[in-house]
Amino acid sequence: MRAVRVKRPGGPEVIELVETDEPTAGGGELLVSVALAGVNYVDTYYRAGVYPKAAPFGLGAEGIGTVIEVGQDVTGFEAGDRVAWCDAPNSYAELVAVPARRAVRVPAGIPDELAVGALLQGMTAHFLVDSTYPVAPGESVLVHAAAGGVGLLLTQMADKRGARVIGTVSTEEKAELARGAGAAEVIRYDRTKDLAAEVRALTEGQGVPVVYDGVGRTTFDASLASLKKRGTMVLFGAASGPVPPVDPQRLNAGGSLYLTRPSLYHHIDTRAELDHHASAVFGAVLDGTLDIRVGHEYSLAEARQAHEDLQGRRTTGKLLLRV
Ligand code: NDP
Repeated sequence: MRAVRVKRPGGPEVIELVETDEPTAGGGELLVSVALAGVNYVDTYYRAGVYPKAAPFGLGAEGIGTVIEVGQDVTGFEAGDRVAWCDAPNSYAELVAVPARRAVRVPAGIPDELAVGALLQGMTAHFLVDSTYPVAPGESVLVHAAAGGVGLLLTQMADKRGARVIGTVSTEEKAELARGAGAAEVIRYDRTKDLAAEVRALTEGQGVPVVYDGVGRTTFDASLASLKKRGTMVLFGAASGPVPPVDPQRLNAGGSLYLTRPSLYHHIDTRAELDHHASAVFGAVLDGTLDIRVGHEYSLAEARQAHEDLQGRRTTGKLLLRV
């Protein structure tokens, strides 16, 4: 079968499409014929060695497809089922072994593209606004990279909860998309000299009670400086690079701030948690309250291009690989 592999960590140029042995369904696993694989920023961290992994390794964690074989000790799934997942390694491939406990059924009314667009990034946005910092009506919240995969969904969810979203983006096209998703204010952070001052100007000098920051190194300081007293800094990613070590005293000086670095995987660890977040996002897609924007679709052979575009800030919304 064809699969995307990385021989050694590095830039997008280390991505290769290879012929490799087919996986089998081990105990507790489903063998799935993949229709679409989701591209996520975390895939670039593994590819680059930011998150170390023994090479060579396969890329990807998310996808949707059809079960073709059910391993031992699996209940509740059978061949022919349509399933999606967001944490099965080697998902940029024609076939993938998905742990049954990580597979979710997709409601019939949701096309494959929207299901993958909703799953990893949608559940991330959902836990961020629902549990990391539960957004309340009337609050102003700062969302970085608001036209990105997570950003567009986070913006919509915070807006639907009655918050006033201040989004940051790097182009006018992205600004339009962020406004369309519900951002009341948009800041071009590529142009501003003092992002925190702009946020304060938009909040009567107060600052915001929460910043959702998936950009990391280049925004972290401005994010902290944008918080009001006892505000919460939610650092959930590092698209611009990892944040250097932080002196806890900065949280005191900033006004008894909270800093957290949450991961989706600690919010979907059990079947009940996974079903809770998946049904929240699939339900919102079905009732029309969550709009999934697939920004770009590539073939499996174009995985390298997808990584170049994602890291080159040329993309919006969800990126898919058609298998
Ligand atoms: P995005 O589609 O948001 O792409 C990243 C965006 O970040 C870019 O489009 C760009 O938007 C912005 N950006 C700002 N500076 C840079 C830079 N120097 N290089 C590249 N991009 C930059 O990606 P995802 O939606 O897949 O992920 C967004 C973030 O969420 C990532 O940090 C990811 O790791 C994180 N994440 C975390 C999870 C968790 O469990 N904690 C789960 C899922 C995602 P612009 O051009 O507008 O600046």
